[in-house]
Parts: sequence; structure tokens; C-alpha cells
Amino acid sequence: MKKEKIEVLVIGAGPSGCIGSAYLQSKNIDVLVVEKAKFPRPVVGESLIPRVMDHLDEIGIIPALISEGFEKKWGARFLRGKNECVFNFSQKYGEGWDWTWQVPRADFDDVVAKEVQKQGVRIDFQSEVINVEFNKNGDSITTVRDLDGEETEIEAKFIIDSSGYGRVLPRLLNLEKPSSHANHSSIFTHIEDVNRSSQERGSLISFDILETEVWLWVIPFSNGKTSIGIVGPSEFIDKLSETGNTTEAMNTAIGLSEFYKERFEGLPFIFKPLLLKNYSRSVKQMYGKGYALTGNSSEFIDPVFSSGVAFATESGMLSAKLIARQLRGESVDWEKDYAGYMKRGINVFSTYVKEWYTGNLQTVFFHEPANQDIKHQICAVLAGYVWDETNPFVRKHTNVIKNIAHTIMMNNMLLTDFYHQEKFRAIDKNNFEVHIRINKKHDIFNGHFPGKPITPGVCMIQIIKNICTEIIGKPIVLDKSKYIKFTAIINPEVNPDLILMIQFVESNDETFRVKCEVYFEDTLALKLSSEYSILTNRA
Ligand code: FAD
Repeated sequence: MKKEKIEVLVIGAGPSGCIGSAYLQSKNIDVLVVEKAKFPRPVVGESLIPRVMDHLDEIGIIPALISEGFEKKWGARFLRGKNECVFNFSQKYGEGWDWTWQVPRADFDDVVAKEVQKQGVRIDFQSEVINVEFNKNGDSITTVRDLDGEETEIEAKFIIDSSGYGRVLPRLLNLEKPSSHANHSSIFTHIEDVNRSSQERGSLISFDILETEVWLWVIPFSNGKTSIGIVGPSEFIDKLSETGNTTEAMNTAIGLSEFYKERFEGLPFIFKPLLLKNYSRSVKQMYGKGYALTGNSSEFIDPVFSSGVAFATESGMLSAKLIARQLRGESVDWEKDYAGYMKRGINVFSTYVKEWYTGNLQTVFFHEPANQDIKHQICAVLAGYVWDETNPFVRKHTNVIKNIAHTIMMNNMLLTDFYHQEKFRAIDKNNFEVHIRINKKHDIFNGHFPGKPITPGVCMIQIIKNICTEIIGKPIVLDKSKYIKFTAIINPEVNPDLILMIQFVESNDETFRVKCEVYFEDTLALKLSSEYSILTNRA
């Protein structure tokens, strides 16, 4: 058996492995990439996001990629019935690239790998890792088998596992963990897009929502072909493909799209549609002594926001930087500087994916009129800038979407004539007296409760928030309430006229606390103390 000794072994020459190995090479670290496939090889994941450009730029290969003429991606469109919501990366909050590409991945990955080879990285194609043994100190012996069946033992100080769905180390070291995301699957293919409009919208990446959890992707390429794929809960995709005929399933999926069926119906598929079941992946740990897991070998959430390649390049680059530091003799806190950092970004995207499938994010996307500040901040998340804590949609990701969707739903109900503001008086800059009249004929009272109308507490909380929004003049979300006390029933038949005494007790540019008392005649009906966040940092 042949033997080799190197400093860093990278498994897989996808975007993650290529970015990491190019960085190590630039630091004169002895790096070898082993890749089991022959490139170009098929791979899914064609819609990039702007954050990827930072990494491609850092290894200096943007000019080479520009000369390939890939389709420029400047934003993304979400469709639901006749409604559309378009995000334009040039209008995103904060710094960062405002464009990227939509690419046939086989070609894109091939160019990236060739460019990295030109920089001196050795990539052994058609060489498959079949075993890895670690010593106590983290050094490892990896067995690689080439196309002729010949095996080589490679001794390395460090391994970057960028093997994607190969998931070499998660399998060998028993690191697999079920994903916290619901089981979703996908069927996808490419078509000759002969009916594509030459207008800008014709080449815009689109996500057509067929049901809350079912959507179709449409990714047009500059070579006239277009990638299409359907995504949904695994039971839905199983049913769609129950005959085992993925061509039939893909045709049915196209027929479900009012928007695209005319453009795609009857066009032949370039390859038999592929089925990928239960695609989300997770791991128990992202690093260990002598190794780091990157890209899809560590975590894959969902394709809906096209974050896969961006996480692959982010983790590939970061792991390489930390290894370079470690090989220089510096101490590295892998938990904080690698797993902690990556998880912060993964958690943000995870929230957005989860809120997409609950329907909350879709409520926010399709709300009219759109609040442009909110849209710009969400756009930065969709561009992959999920570590920018100055963005409230990053910093408060765990509840911001849920809260806004809730506000929209409540307002849809309340603003249809639930109450009227009769008087507004600013007593001083922190104290306000607001008179409102509840509409006793509103539909809500048919259900709450027939013959015995009671104003729901949740509506009162929303009214207070609406009035605070008007006073602040910016979108806000309710963070928490110190107390909410309902001290009398508000019967709109008897007491439709309410007086709200609102006091701003603590406020700064980002948050404020409000105390409010609600009266009818001399009766105190509600007392509340709540904290809100302001959803913009702009003046
Ligand atoms: P890969 O690109 O998969 O590369 C891994 C490489 O490792 C492969 O070349 C493989 O041959 C090699 N390898 C595997 N095992 C071994 C072994 N034993 N020895 C040697 N080499 C090995 N992401 C997006 O950014 N945009 C999208 O639009 C998008 N759409 C998606 C749609 C679906 C349905 C799914 C499931 C995923 C999608 N993704 C998308 C995710 C994207 O495919 C991945 O996140 C991305 O390809 C990960 O890159 P990587 O470098 O980690 O792995």
C-alpha cells in the first residue's frame, strides 16, 4: 500500500472543500483534496446567495467566474397565487454584495475546482475515502481508494470533512443526529426553457408557493436551461411519486403551478427527475480533535432560502483559517470560534425556514403595503448576512417574524373597523391620552361571545401596540410584558368608549417600555406594562 504524509487532508472538492483548501494553500500549508467523483459531476443547489461572493472573492476567483457568463442573480421572487414579493439585494440592509449567480452546479463547481488547482492545490479526483483512524493526539491515517482499486494511506495532522452528503466522518465516528426540521423531500430536473420571456422577470429566480408547505423552484440559467424542483413534506412528495415514476410526478407538480404550467408544460426533461428524500441533516458535533466538519457534511437545513452553498463556503473558509492558526502554534477555541459562530448563523436561517413552513414568514412577505424597512432587513438575511447583529431581523430572529405575522393577522381583523380613534392628546413627550370607540357591531363579537359581547384582551393589547407604533412612527414588536391585568370586562354594548392613558417610562433608540391604563368612565379595565423593540436603526 502506498503511503503519504501531509498537513491537512480535505475530503471532497465541492464549494466547501475548494474554498478551505485554497485558503490553506495561500498560507503555504501542505494540503491535499481527495474527491471521489470525476468533475464535472451532477449536484443540486444552483441558487447562490451574495454571502458566497465574499468567500469566492477572498480566494481571488471572481474574475474567472465572471468570464464563464453565469446568469447574474440580483434578487429573488416569491409567488403565491397572483401575488408576488420580490427582494432586490441592492436594497438590503447593511454592507455586503448585492448580487451573485444562479449556476448549473456541475459547471460552477468544475470551474471553482480548476481555479483552485491553478493556485497550486492538489486535487486527486476519483479517489474515495473509505476509512479514517485517529490517534489520541488528533493525527489521522486515512485510507483512500482510487479508480483502479489501489489504496493509499494518508497521514495528516488535520482533516476537513467537506464530503457533502457523503458525510464521511459523521458516519465513521457516529456523529449523525436527526435534524430538528420536519421531514421534507424534493424532486427536481432541468428543462430547455424555450418559452422563457426575454424580460428581466423571465430569468429571475422564483419560488412558487403551491400550498403553505409545498413550493416549486424555478432557476433559469444563462445557457437557456432552467432548473425546476418541487419541495414539500415527505408524505406529500411520496404521494406525488407513489408510482415510482419521477417524470410523471414532476409533470403533476408543474400542473399544480398556475403561474408556470403554461411555460413548462409538455417540455421534455433534460434528465430523469431525481428524488431526494428527507434531505435535512445534522450532527452531534461540528469538530473534534484533528478534524472539522464543513458544509453539508455537518448541517443542511432546507433549500428554501438557498443557504446551502453559503454555509458550505463559510464553514470551509472558517475551518481553514482556524487550522492555519493552530498549525502556527496558536491556541484555538473550536467551540466558540467554530461551532459557536457557525451555529449562530445556522440558528438564524433555521428560524426563517421554520417560520416559512408555519406560514408566518409568507404572511410577512405578502403583506400589502410592504414596510420597506422590514423588507430591507429581511433581504439582508436572505442575502446570507446572518451574523450582522446590527440587523434586528438577525438579532431578534427567534420572535420577530412570529410577532410581525401575528400583528398583521390581528390588524387584518382589527383594522376592518374594530375601533375608531376619537381623540389623541399628547400631555407631554412621554404621556398620551387616547380616546377610542369600540365597534359593537364588529364580526368579532358574533363569536366572542354571541349575545354576551366581550372585548378580547388580545385585541386590547394589539390596539395599545398600534397606538404606540403611531407615536414612535416606526414598526415595533412586543418583546415581553411585565404584567397585564384585566380588572373589568369591556362590554362594547354598554361601554364602547375607552380612554387609554399611555406612559413611556424608559426608552432608547432600540427599545422602550410602556405603562398603559384603560378606563371606561371611572372604571379601570386593564393595566399593562410591556417592552417593545423598534425594528429599524434608521432615522
Ligand atoms: P458538495 O457540493 O456535495 O460536495 C461534496 C463532495 O464530496 C462531492 O463532490 C462528493 O463527490 C465528495 N465526496 C463524498 N464522499 C466522498 C468520499 N468518501 N471521498 C471523497 N470524496 C467524497 N444550496 C444552495 O446554496 N442553493 C440552492 O438552491 C440549493 N438547493 C438545494 C436543493 C435541494 C433539494 C437540496 C437537498 C439541497 C440544496 N442546496 C442548495 C444545498 C447544496 O446542495 C449544498 O448545501 C452544497 O452543495 C454543499 O456543498 P458542499 O461543498 O458541502 O458539498
